[in-house]
Amino acid sequence: MYGYLFIMIINRTRFKANVFGVKNYPYQIIKPSTNVKLGKWVSKGRHANKRIYTVTLEERATCPKTCKHWYDCYGNTMPFAHRFKYDSYLIKRMDKELSYLNTRKYGVLIRLHVLGDFPDLKYVEHWDEWLDKYKNISCYGYTAHSPKESIGGRIALMNENRWDRWSIRFSNYPRYKLSANSDTISKNGITCPEQAGQTKSCGTCGLCWNKTSKPILFMTHSYDLRKGNNANHKPTN
Ligand code: SF4
Repeated sequence: MYGYLFIMIINRTRFKANVFGVKNYPYQIIKPSTNVKLGKWVSKGRHANKRIYTVTLEERATCPKTCKHWYDCYGNTMPFAHRFKYDSYLIKRMDKELSYLNTRKYGVLIRLHVLGDFPDLKYVEHWDEWLDKYKNISCYGYTAHSPKESIGGRIALMNENRWDRWSIRFSNYPRYKLSANSDTISKNGITCPEQAGQTKSCGTCGLCWNKTSKPILFMTHSYDLRKGNNANHKPTN
């Protein structure tokens, strides 16, 4: 009973003051990466010389409740990140910004999503349409959706059809080859070289958008809302 109430209450970010509707948001919502772990530019693999951008939605509010990191999401230790509300304004603004980014001289690689997930099937379909419309745009990232359900299934289909520009790994589905898993859930795979101190950033690595690599393993430690602990604040996928 108490566990059920707890799940009902914890269904949004801890940092609600940093959730913005995009209608009156004065800045870009698809932001050039300033994140040290991601890097700014890609120097390796088929996305070499592309600029990395990020999109951040609200954690938990846009995520499937089956996420294994519902309580220890790394967003719990990111008080300053601007999260965007998912609504029709967000879709219109994304379309406008993607249209602009499509005209850049350099290629654009967008990390989906620094926080949050694909909120519904329609949102995934928008991305499929945007990739058709804006050829300069590519995406990589992670989802906690199951590849066997509708939203995840559509993401998996896009992985199959357009991996060259759409590389979304499934978080904590270790039986799925294109997955990225916590090292507490699986031991089968390659530990993220950035976390292992073997490379500087995603931009200098590129393993996540390499289809032939084994599943990626992440060291997962964050503030756990159930325990009130914080192992080391290190962000993972
Ligand atoms: S394994 Fe993935 S998350 Fe880790 S540095 Fe490489 S591209 Fe980034």
